[in-house]
Amino acid sequence: QAVHVTKHFAVRGGLPRRGATKKVVHAVEDVSLDLYAGRITALVGESGSGKSTLARLLAQLYPLTGGEIRLHGKPVQALRGKAFREHVRTVQLILQDPFSSFNPVASIAGTLRRAVALHHPGKSAKERAAVIDDLLTQINLVPPRQFTEKFPHELSGGQLQRLSIARALAADPEVFLADEPVSSLDVSIRLGILNLLRHLTEDRNAAMLYVTHDIASARYFAADTAVMYAGQVVEKGPSEAVTQQAAHPYTQLLIASAPDPSRAGADRVRDIGQPPSLIDPPSGCRFHPRCPFAMERCATDAPEPFEISPGHTARCWLYADDPEARAKRADNAE
Ligand code: SF4
Ligand code: MG
Repeated sequence: QAVHVTKHFAVRGGLPRRGATKKVVHAVEDVSLDLYAGRITALVGESGSGKSTLARLLAQLYPLTGGEIRLHGKPVQALRGKAFREHVRTVQLILQDPFSSFNPVASIAGTLRRAVALHHPGKSAKERAAVIDDLLTQINLVPPRQFTEKFPHELSGGQLQRLSIARALAADPEVFLADEPVSSLDVSIRLGILNLLRHLTEDRNAAMLYVTHDIASARYFAADTAVMYAGQVVEKGPSEAVTQQAAHPYTQLLIASAPDPSRAGADRVRDIGQPPSLIDPPSGCRFHPRCPFAMERCATDAPEPFEISPGHTARCWLYADDPEARAKRADNAE
């Protein structure tokens, strides 16, 4: 698939050493991820797993402590000045809570005018107005003239989230980073927003990172899925494989505890225990204190990602190609 080489966006990194007590927060540790043009990658995990941090690292909101982010194969850390600003435009972050991301006293037109002026400084006022109409049409706030003079408080949560998508679109991005874009919205409108994001990704041949705690939506929505635990990607691959043949014990736990959408009031993940502290993460495999399959070495040795099938990997000793792992896999299969 040619699309695999048209956009390459990779990160290996961690957060800066920060905090008054000089503690090191290992928010994101040695993560590798590729995003592809026209394709959605889901990043799934519990709160505190480092998934939002990773999205913000990709948006250049934090500096890296290690590793690199590449766009089209080129490291972005080296960019300065105009090239850096151009890169920041290219990568747009859409946040969870649309209510807090708008200036309450700016009209819809005012908000979009700012975004359009920022990214299209050469355009005349008339051209910008046409761009704004087009943006509102793309996100289905139509007819546009009915919305331009409104203020944020006059829009519903879903309309506001569409507007924040329009604001991101004004930059004509190549990469969308959507951090829980629907989790603050009413269940009944989530699908519409996700479908809008999917169409935009496909129509513009943009790459999208879809950050979510909902592994069921990842399967429906994203071609690829990466599962994050305690700052690391513990399993990744095609969504179908990750969700239907989950290999990592943590992914299996997430799937088993996912809410059943057919039950009323089930929109809440059942308690599956506490994620570990990122200041002092467990030794060895970070999941070992919670893992029902833990072996002796899991407490001391950190597993590398092992390949389960082409493109599908799990960071778990069960998949090492050695006699102990084979025996353990056989035990678990019984
Ligand atoms: Fe469980 Fe060990 Fe695999 Fe970690 S490496 S998930 S502790 S079996
Ligand atoms: Mg978050």
